[in-house]
Amino acid sequence: MNDARLSTLLENAPLDAYTTFGVTQYARFLIEVSDLPELYEAVEFARDNHLELMVLGGGSNVLFVRDFPGLVIIIKLTGIVRESGTRLRIGAGEDWHNLVDWTLANKLFGLENLALIPGTVGAAPIQNIGAYGVEIERFVTRVHVFDTHLAKALDFTRDACDFAYRDSLFKRAPRGRYIVLEVELELSDSDAPVLTYPALAERFGSDEKITAEQVYHAVCDIRRSKLPDPKVIGNAGSFFKNPVVSKEKFFKISELFDAVPGFPLENGEFYKLSAAWLLDTAGWKGRRRGLAGVFEHHALVLVNHGGATGEDIFLLAQEMSSSVLQRFGIALQPEVLIV
Ligand SMILES: Cc1cc2nc3c(=O)[nH]c(=O)nc-3n(C[C@H](O)[C@H](O)[C@H](O)COP(=O)(O)OP(=O)(O)OC[C@H]3O[C@@H](n4cnc5c(N)ncnc54)[C@H](O)[C@@H]3O)c2cc1C
Repeated sequence: MNDARLSTLLENAPLDAYTTFGVTQYARFLIEVSDLPELYEAVEFARDNHLELMVLGGGSNVLFVRDFPGLVIIIKLTGIVRESGTRLRIGAGEDWHNLVDWTLANKLFGLENLALIPGTVGAAPIQNIGAYGVEIERFVTRVHVFDTHLAKALDFTRDACDFAYRDSLFKRAPRGRYIVLEVELELSDSDAPVLTYPALAERFGSDEKITAEQVYHAVCDIRRSKLPDPKVIGNAGSFFKNPVVSKEKFFKISELFDAVPGFPLENGEFYKLSAAWLLDTAGWKGRRRGLAGVFEHHALVLVNHGGATGEDIFLLAQEMSSSVLQRFGIALQPEVLIV
């Protein structure tokens, strides 16, 4: 490498510090980029050397099962610009939770239910992050990307992003094709939080006027009590998506297990089931397979007890999904990107 701009390029870089699972796999090359010229140089380097490209933010939704033979680009593009009253343009490398804090400090509302989700702003539209009854898609007006196949920058409107539950056009696209550079969000200047999610509805009741600030603190409290901190124990949050089944299938399962929780979708034609409940009922909470395990308080969260390989965690995940398939006839899909 004789290009001065890529002086920070690392070769055979361990990925444990770049992913919250903390598994030790290696990337053939890795670079952190904090400006656009550096990013474009890195993309060119990958193209010239026929290397597969992979973009990471905080690495909180990815599991490397093997070493990555290409170039991993860590996005560090920062900046929060208030374009008009309620419209923000945010660099892809900004920390998501810091953005939530910034919006509340600036009297912009809407993101409070999404507090404490780890990771970056650029990754938020990839799987349409969601929590406590709110998904990011309701705020997205534009996602500004670099298309590495066409070698040019493009804008996607909210409709063009084709958002769905933990999914978007970006998540379905070939790996490394779209690099999110900026996300534009339209927030609200009226403090009217969403309280539809049962845990929040129960906590607040319906009488008083609840503020976004109160919801923010409630969400942070609930999350801290339920989810393991990746800085303490390696994990990537929910490993599987909540499965959606036909109403016939839901009623069949309900006949066998009356406690099965289901949320009706599309006029009751389909039901979203709780993957955590299915795994818990199948006895997975707190179980271990060597150094990989299931969090003791949440059956949907796989953890690295220290020193687990990506393969250890992957094999455990496969065993868990096979047991749910056998017991309930439901195939769980991973939410985490498996590389
Ligand atoms: C404890 C814990 C709790 C969590 N809770 C939730 C939750 O409540 N709701 C939820 O939705 N998720 C949750 N997650 C998952 C995760 O936080 C989100 O998916 C988050 O958006 C990932 O951000 P990241 O920057 O870490 O992405 P990464 O893990 O680095 O990447 C995830 C995906 O996005 C792609 N990507 C990242 N940045 C870019 C970019 N700039 N351009 C193009 N592609 C990019 C990657 O290639 C990869 O496909 C949780 C994770 C943990 C560890």
